[in-house]
Amino acid sequence: MITLQHCQQRDAADPTRHLRAHFSIPSDLIYLDGNSLGVMPKAAVARAAEVVTQEWGQGLIRSWNTAGWFNLPQRLGNKVATLIGAGPDEVVVTDSTSINLFKVLSAALNMAREDAPTRRSIVSERSNFPTDLYMAEALCKERGFELQLVEPTEIEAALTVDVAVLILTHVNYRTGAMHDMSSVTAAAHAAGILTVWDLAHSAGAVPVDLHGAGADFAVGCSYKYLNGGPGAPAFVWVNPKHAERFWQPLAGWWGHATPFEFTPDYRPAPGIRRYLCGTQPILSLATLECGLDVFTAAEACGGMTALRDKSLALTDLFIELVEQRCEGHGLGLATPRDHEQRGSQVCLTRKTGAYAIVQALIARGVVGDFRAGDGAQHLDILRFGFTPLYIGFEDVWNAVEHLKQVLETEEWQQAQFNQHSEVT
Ligand SMILES: *Cc1c(COP(=O)(O)O)cnc(C)c1O
Repeated sequence: MITLQHCQQRDAADPTRHLRAHFSIPSDLIYLDGNSLGVMPKAAVARAAEVVTQEWGQGLIRSWNTAGWFNLPQRLGNKVATLIGAGPDEVVVTDSTSINLFKVLSAALNMAREDAPTRRSIVSERSNFPTDLYMAEALCKERGFELQLVEPTEIEAALTVDVAVLILTHVNYRTGAMHDMSSVTAAAHAAGILTVWDLAHSAGAVPVDLHGAGADFAVGCSYKYLNGGPGAPAFVWVNPKHAERFWQPLAGWWGHATPFEFTPDYRPAPGIRRYLCGTQPILSLATLECGLDVFTAAEACGGMTALRDKSLALTDLFIELVEQRCEGHGLGLATPRDHEQRGSQVCLTRKTGAYAIVQALIARGVVGDFRAGDGAQHLDILRFGFTPLYIGFEDVWNAVEHLKQVLETEEWQQAQFNQHSEVT
């Protein structure tokens, strides 16, 4: 039997434990929602104040040059690149994940149209994050392609001669199931298909090797595991072999070769600057850098390899404790047990009451979230994200203890936990 003492010993032995001190986390919270909105790096407070009072307040327009504002998307892109197996000057941080998806998918469709005009469809997973599917659907409508949605087990069979692009999220937002990026990319390429990977639940959560996998395009969020702050800009990567063929569908002046010549015609910048569209959100970029700098600090204690080891240990522990201590309460597991197929979250399932159980946990200071069941299984999901930078083994113990109490006392049946709010 696992004990609280055992969990405390594991915290004491954790080589990455000190990284938690980089974050400001309310002391009465066990925050298991870092896969939706990461916590605040302590450095963000001073950095935001500096940008507002000094760089904006005093520097004004001069700060585009003197404070390095102009190159922030590339500078931060280089920091993200080290976490996703991309090279220097291959990634920029800009726009939202949704918008970056539109950009890369549009570029991929253009390439497919030139190289293989008979290919007329995009394949994705039915359970992919909705914005990914909506963007694909919109582009299909506009370009005369067809969107084909399949189950994870049907992906390889769907990679036929009609398919132009495969667009997948590496770690499923709902279940935490992770694809083998290398083998899926290889299968797509063998069938002449380009790949777009969404790394929203991967960057900063699991090691990613875009070059190793030979991927074509990637996008991802920075406000989840990268702790960039609410609405912090996303990142976009294009394999350098395609970089010159990346044609901006949103051809704004920031992607122009010489934006300050103000010419009437669009000429894309030769490098990654062409992935940019318009003027960048400097305040958001500045706080994101504070989040990325914690990963730089993590390099001294094993970097993403050590963080991945810890993440798997945390999710293993959570699964084990739930099975040991919450037995007989109708909970199932939607997340794969196999480490190779698991991201950094655990999703429990329940036929009824999942929403209210999550609300009761939040009232106790254990923050996870709820996702309604998909059509196939009708099982609702209680979703718990484990960000290895700041979650510890004792947190896992305490979270399961609260879950056990909520279930045993049926506290979740109270009316206050059964009212729905706008953002879940
Ligand atoms: C969170 C998430 C998004 C969010 O996109 P935004 O444009 O930032 O709202 C997109 N895709 C996936 C897979 C996500 O998990």
